[in-house]
Amino acid sequence: MSIHGPYDPENIFAKILAREMPVAMIATSARTIAFMDAFPQSRGHCLVIPKAPSRNLLEIARKDLSAVTDQVQIIAKAVEKALKPDGITITQFNGAPAGQTVFHTHFHIIPRYTDQALAGHSKGQMADMAELKKIAAEIREQMP
Ligand code: AMP
Repeated sequence: MSIHGPYDPENIFAKILAREMPVAMIATSARTIAFMDAFPQSRGHCLVIPKAPSRNLLEIARKDLSAVTDQVQIIAKAVEKALKPDGITITQFNGAPAGQTVFHTHFHIIPRYTDQALAGHSKGQMADMAELKKIAAEIREQMP
């Protein structure tokens, strides 16, 4: 998929927003949702997405982008408190050549642990839903 094009309302994150796909939810806000990545690159890998449809950073409305980046900081702080990682990587991809695989704007929050290799982007194993829900609850407990 190129960097521009029509928004596909059948993409996985649209299905998650429509509650048609199970997910380990962390939190919702007026304009965003945050949930656990189902194929985590590390323990605690989570995603923040806008509720409104947009393909990427170039197309998202600024008010939605502001809401998403605010929520990224809130979730990253909660991840730090809950999981005590040694670092946190924030990533965001635009267009297939850049590594984007789901074409609904999203930010990755990826905890990093010293001496633990990161699974490749979109190459992680599918995680156990019960374990993801447990981690999501731990993160949520640390949110303001
Ligand atoms: P990207 O490759 O940057 O577009 O990121 C898409 C992310 O969505 C990847 O890290 C996937 O592991 C993740 N993902 C794909 N399907 C699901 C799903 N059903 N629930 C949660 N995360 C998913």
